[in-house]
Amino acid sequence: MIAVAVAGALGRMGSEVIRAVSAAEDLEVVAGVDVPAAIGGQPAPAGIALSSDLKQAISDAKPQVLVDFTVAEAAFANAMTALELGVRPVIGTTGMGPEQVQRLEARASETKTGAFLAPNFALGAVLMMYFARIGARYFDSAEIIELHHDQKIDAPSGTGLKTAQDMVASRGHPFETNVPDKEPLPGGRGANCDGVRLHSVRLPGLVAHHEVIFGGQGQILTIRHDSTDRTSFMPGVLIAIREVLKLDRLVVGLDTLLGLRV
Ligand code: NAD
Repeated sequence: MIAVAVAGALGRMGSEVIRAVSAAEDLEVVAGVDVPAAIGGQPAPAGIALSSDLKQAISDAKPQVLVDFTVAEAAFANAMTALELGVRPVIGTTGMGPEQVQRLEARASETKTGAFLAPNFALGAVLMMYFARIGARYFDSAEIIELHHDQKIDAPSGTGLKTAQDMVASRGHPFETNVPDKEPLPGGRGANCDGVRLHSVRLPGLVAHHEVIFGGQGQILTIRHDSTDRTSFMPGVLIAIREVLKLDRLVVGLDTLLGLRV
């Protein structure tokens, strides 16, 4: 049995992770961590010891893996704490800055402890990103529309941004972009990642959706992925929990674990 602690245990993703891990025969949830306000306001999931103190939870429950779906400000500190205590972090929280990722990478390598970070655990989204990296080599113009539920804090989405960055890296230079002469409302053309314009839609009713649109001479190629339910992320989370035990450094992206790197 792999012992798993979940940070953000009472959140939307954390609750889903607790359900998925509890249902897997080779995994068990040994602790849930959340902020005091959340713990005070909700009943604990059945049979899960809840705590607002990650260090204490790790020392009491001795998890091998910490799955983190919290907020960017907390995820970095949680992962560093986990690494210090020999626990392997699997981080799904988005919005961490590149400097924090570098520091995590350095710490995981120094301590020879596996760590894993993925902006998107949905296998279909990982394939979308893979196909987008291939398309990026053949088209000079591309834009991304990402659509999420209205509770999402960060924009653009971690997946949207990573997709754009990977597309630029795949072709080796920025995309061609038209810079408008007039933008009556600032931000009208969206965020700009080396020529890839990113547009963020936030509406109730949405879950997580990404559309990569390539434009070329007389043709449009659209690659779209829809997560219509949070369960879409769970197979990827379970793969990461099992695989992080075999790592001795930080790996970023489910594509690396699945051999989908181009
Ligand atoms: P949510 O607001 O429903 O849940 C976050 C939970 O974290 C809350 O219960 C909150 O109280 C808790 N929390 C905040 N600070 C904490 C701390 N210091 N320690 C422990 N718990 C803390 O949010 P959500 O929809 O579950 O999303 C969580 C994160 O996961 C976001 O960053 C989101 O973008 C990301 N996400 C990633 C993927 C992926 O595939 N990688 C998929 C969906 C969501």
